Amino acid sequence: MSNRIKILPDHIANQIAAGEVIQRPCSVIKELVENAVDAGATKIQVIIKDAGKTLIQVIDNGEGMTSGDAITCFERHATSKIESANDLFSLTTKGFRGEALASIASIAQVVLKTKRVDQETGTEIHIEGSKIVTQTDCVVAAGTSFEVKNLFFNIPARRNFLKSDAMEFRHIEEEFERVALAHPSCSFTLHHNNQEVYNLPMANLRKRIVDVLGKTANDRLVPIEEKTDIVSIHGYVLKPEFARKTRGEQYFFVNNRFFKDHYFNHAVNKAFDGLIQPKFFPGYFIFFDVNPAKLDVNIHPTKTEIKFEEDKFIYSILLSSIRQALGKYNVSPTLDFEQETAFDVPMSFRNQPAIEPVIRVNPDFNPFQPPTSSSHKSGSSGLSPAIRAQGFGQTNPSAEDWQNFYKIEEDQEINQNHLIEPTSVETVKEFLVKDRLVLTPSKSGFMLIDRKRAQERITYDELMEQFVNSPIHSQQLLFPYDLEFSKNEKIVWESNRSLLERFGFQYEIHSNQLIINGIPSCVQDDSIHLCIDFINETIGYKEVDKGEIAHFVVLSIAKSVSLAALKNKIEPSLLIERLFQCQDHQYSPTGKRILNTLTLEELKSKL
Ligand code: ADP
Ligand code: MG
Repeated sequence: MSNRIKILPDHIANQIAAGEVIQRPCSVIKELVENAVDAGATKIQVIIKDAGKTLIQVIDNGEGMTSGDAITCFERHATSKIESANDLFSLTTKGFRGEALASIASIAQVVLKTKRVDQETGTEIHIEGSKIVTQTDCVVAAGTSFEVKNLFFNIPARRNFLKSDAMEFRHIEEEFERVALAHPSCSFTLHHNNQEVYNLPMANLRKRIVDVLGKTANDRLVPIEEKTDIVSIHGYVLKPEFARKTRGEQYFFVNNRFFKDHYFNHAVNKAFDGLIQPKFFPGYFIFFDVNPAKLDVNIHPTKTEIKFEEDKFIYSILLSSIRQALGKYNVSPTLDFEQETAFDVPMSFRNQPAIEPVIRVNPDFNPFQPPTSSSHKSGSSGLSPAIRAQGFGQTNPSAEDWQNFYKIEEDQEINQNHLIEPTSVETVKEFLVKDRLVLTPSKSGFMLIDRKRAQERITYDELMEQFVNSPIHSQQLLFPYDLEFSKNEKIVWESNRSLLERFGFQYEIHSNQLIINGIPSCVQDDSIHLCIDFINETIGYKEVDKGEIAHFVVLSIAKSVSLAALKNKIEPSLLIERLFQCQDHQYSPTGKRILNTLTLEELKSKL
């Protein structure tokens, strides 16, 4: 039998490696910009077209390559950065695997122009699908320029897998900002489709952060600094009042390399404990300098996790240095934040241990005793089938029916537990438990309804139905509402304008500000910010399919409306009636249970 194992040709091996290193346009940018940094550049220009799908060009003024190196650099495992395994323990460069350029050249059309300072002429190489097409001399400034065109031109499946330009561009910005923040002493520009998006001159770290985030960032930064034998820490945290509901500005760097770390993130959160509201995230730009020998460098090429030998020690140093910094800048501790109603569970609930409402019922009580003659006419009920399915008004109930249906026998004792208030003294129809739950007698016992979720379902269904038929009515704001937004958030409002306008939003975008002039008419003035936060959170920080955007916008509006409705104490019976007209009245649009029944048996068993 003949041997079956074959060595893969290089171009295929490179394509496989490319799958790991180059997942999308932002990976190319990361690799090329990091190479430029490793080459000692002080000026790096990035030019892209169509979110990098058509063109990614990175031009640097670094050390350049000889004509020989210009060819070798595209070979797999070709690197000038390490020579032996020992060098792995003293790494100071971003790259060391020698895989990136080989991978990129296997899946794109690449033009390299490069010249070392001491050379007269430069080298120009065209390479396509790992094959060198031409190599010529050229006139070029000292340094290196890589043009990467038509990414995945030879792997259509991978190309089809790319997301929308807006989404891909967001990834690019993220990658670009990470490198730019790590290297403030290098100037960076980024042009997208002939427009300048970033122009970051050489600066110190503080200025660089401000250049990336926007002017207002300057007043928000609190410096941290700590030097020990094992680790030096420097950087900034954002003052607690600028914590956000999304993990926007959280950056760790070790030896100027961006990384993510849950454990250290925990230390930061702990330092902010009591200073920020639950579910808010502190912002930080924290740089660790650690002896490279104490880091595990054998990390996955694209992953941003790094292993630290002394992680416990670093954790405690990090925690104490942030606490100290916050203290010094007078922003700690015991700030009493006004709680807002933006949370899923009202504050009043969260601060109390959950007390099970104690209900005593007359076991003989039957809310469905035969109705009086006047209340039963035959014919269509006008109520949705859903209502009837729940045992409500089997046949055409009148207002009187509802009264009877809910009426609680006079001899029925209701324990006035402090969590339970009857909504009306004369005819007790429903009980409101701490604004959030409605308790109402039902066929088999009692029904518990979550008001917020119910309202969410009602608003969601109404809006969806309206939206499908015609644009949603907009109400003009007397005073425009403006807020600063992050880059991710900006993209949400830029790229979904027609959809958002159809929902009644009217707005202008100015650099990093969103100015809202009109909102959907169902949104209350005082919950605009909630509504916008929800939209930003759900669409801005997740990879949302285009088709799902409308769902998330409606969901965000519904959430803000339902929170406002909690305050407004809408009549529970009205709420119930509207809920049961929704087809799916059992679950909220996010899949949470809206109602449940406690049978008389279950209730009795409590006694
Ligand atoms: P690595 O960065 O892991 O060494 P790459 O495939 O990214 O691997 O690059 C291969 C080699 O090409 C580098 O080691 C370096 O010598 C050279 N090189 C790449 N980009 C540049 C650049 N912008 N300037 C100078 N040399 C470069
Ligand atoms: Mg590299």
